[in-house]
Amino acid sequence: MKDVRVAIVGGGPAGLQAAISLSKLGIKPLVYEEHSNIGQPIQCGEGLSIHAFNDFSIPVEDSKIWTKVHKRCKLVFPENRAIYGDIQAYMIKRDKFDQYLAQKATDLGSTIITSTRVNSIQQNSAGVLLNIEGEKSTEVQSELVILAEGAQAKLTKSLSISPPFPLIYAFEYKVEGEWGEELEFYFDAERYPYGYIWLFPRKNETNIGIVTNSRERKKLLDDFLNQKNISGRILKKVGGPIPMKGPIPEIHRDKIMIVGDAAGMVNPIFYGGIRIGMTSGEIAGKVAANFLNRKDDSQASSLDRYPAEISKYMFSNKINLSCHNFFYSRSNKFLTKLGKILNEQYINRIKGREKIKMLLNLLVNPGLLKYPRGLLKIYKGFKIARDWGF
Ligand SMILES: Cc1cc2nc3c(=O)[nH]c(=O)nc-3n(C[C@H](O)[C@H](O)[C@H](O)COP(=O)(O)OP(=O)(O)OC[C@H]3O[C@@H](n4cnc5c(N)ncnc54)[C@H](O)[C@@H]3O)c2cc1C
Repeated sequence: MKDVRVAIVGGGPAGLQAAISLSKLGIKPLVYEEHSNIGQPIQCGEGLSIHAFNDFSIPVEDSKIWTKVHKRCKLVFPENRAIYGDIQAYMIKRDKFDQYLAQKATDLGSTIITSTRVNSIQQNSAGVLLNIEGEKSTEVQSELVILAEGAQAKLTKSLSISPPFPLIYAFEYKVEGEWGEELEFYFDAERYPYGYIWLFPRKNETNIGIVTNSRERKKLLDDFLNQKNISGRILKKVGGPIPMKGPIPEIHRDKIMIVGDAAGMVNPIFYGGIRIGMTSGEIAGKVAANFLNRKDDSQASSLDRYPAEISKYMFSNKINLSCHNFFYSRSNKFLTKLGKILNEQYINRIKGREKIKMLLNLLVNPGLLKYPRGLLKIYKGFKIARDWGF
């Protein structure tokens, strides 16, 4: 039986960033990834804000990992009312991006083992026992385990820790040609309940996808393409589940820490999770290294610091879920009114007096008048989502 200090289950952005963070602090983890190639198959809209590059010192000039940069996003409400936002978002090449993180982790001393699935985990007095299915089945004893196994979170479930639930499903076409000039989000409460359609132009291609709890995802996306006269060849179809309600309550138990999608580390408004997942991995790695390198049993080196540190970030603030609950349970009538009042505005440019004027405008509007608190939730939630949404 092999002994390791830290085993990480899952070689996505959250697990790889945890490996980088640990390795930097002298603990060289083992990362198990069930697929043969890191970053593949791609299941992603591939939009990522500049903040992720800055937070993790990822060189923006390295155009091997992205194809296009967008400075504006457009939110389209029913009756074609559009609201704009200034952003700086990169269309990453998700496979190359994950492979970049894997290379960084390896250069720092982590070991990544692909084509190897962790079948089960069991807590014991020495930490956690992992049952590994690779070329041959083996057991590995680890002092500590970081679960970065994505949205399905099977091992997390096996510990009777509430997994991220419910999940929402996304489906996407990679279409030939650039069908637009900015990141576009189409909201329609009747057609795309609890979600939206996205249109993210890349170089010579566009990622066009839908996230909704409607089971008619494919048909709705096909209708959208027809309606917009998007006739480019479909190069690829991808899809997958996404945690819908943000971080789960229990993200750490004994010697097990849960990061990324497995811990619900996703923005519940735009459903992006790369940056949040990496942030949770970074923090879990630091707390784990501090714990393993500890000289005493003080609170400062306890694993309880992981949820405590996470709670300091705006992405874990309850306002995000409140905004999700309020915004996604509105009717199209409400969304149309909102779109009409904010029409053609750059939402992030409204400052000082103009902000007050806009709020008054919203509040005197019959139909919106009864929701002053809800409107505030939308304002706050979307403000956070601009930074943490993708
Ligand atoms: C269609 C779609 C579009 C999206 N678009 C965006 C976007 O544009 N921007 C954004 O920020 N986010 C987006 N997301 C969300 C984003 O992809 C996830 O939040 C992010 O990938 C989470 O990273 P992770 O490392 O937690 O999990 P994952 O990336 O899912 O990685 C988990 C890894 O664990 C491996 N694994 C699982 N179980 C085991 C096991 N037992 N043993 C070994 N390996 C295991 C899996 O193979 C996988 O590689 C999208 C999601 C979907 C489905």
